[in-house]
Amino acid sequence: MFDIFREFHYNTTRTIVRCAMLLSVREILNIPGKKLEFQFSMDLSCVEFGGYYPVAEPVVVKGTVRNMAGVLVLSGTAETTLHAVCDRCAKPFLLEKSVSFEHLLAETLENEEDGGDEIVLLQNGQVDVEELARTAFVLGMDTKLLCSDDCKGLCPSCGADLNTGPCGCKRAGDPRMAVLAKLLQHSEQETE
Ligand SMILES: [Zn+2]
Ligand SMILES: [Zn+2]
Repeated sequence: MFDIFREFHYNTTRTIVRCAMLLSVREILNIPGKKLEFQFSMDLSCVEFGGYYPVAEPVVVKGTVRNMAGVLVLSGTAETTLHAVCDRCAKPFLLEKSVSFEHLLAETLENEEDGGDEIVLLQNGQVDVEELARTAFVLGMDTKLLCSDDCKGLCPSCGADLNTGPCGCKRAGDPRMAVLAKLLQHSEQETE
């Protein structure tokens, strides 16, 4: 099924390899109702998100290409367990991540304007599924990863993890805020 690799092994050396995962769809190109399945894993451990490398485990990609009444539809999912660091409290945590993607495949574009991102042109009857999966996964990453939606984060003054309980400085208040409050009070009195 794959012209280049029968199996794709997870690269543990953390070097940047951009392997193409070329899937030949020639055998279903002219047979409506036919489908092809694909599955492989890809290494995105060298891809940085917000200063971290959370894709520590292989991303498993699974999907199908279906010939639906002569139109080739590729759909798949890219899944992994992220080794994330909470954006608020800096605690490491694991997060299941699944991104799905879908494209139409065509040998030629009948109309240039019809193009768009959804249609992927076949090269010699092949499509680079790895590139499609990688792009979908990277675009699907959240800009902020939180250990939980209601994570309280760290105290800006003492750095204590507020999820484990309140720290001492809350009651004392920020001295800079007190000065600001006083200034505001004065300006309010002046305008009265
Ligand atoms: Zn957190
Ligand atoms: Zn504090």
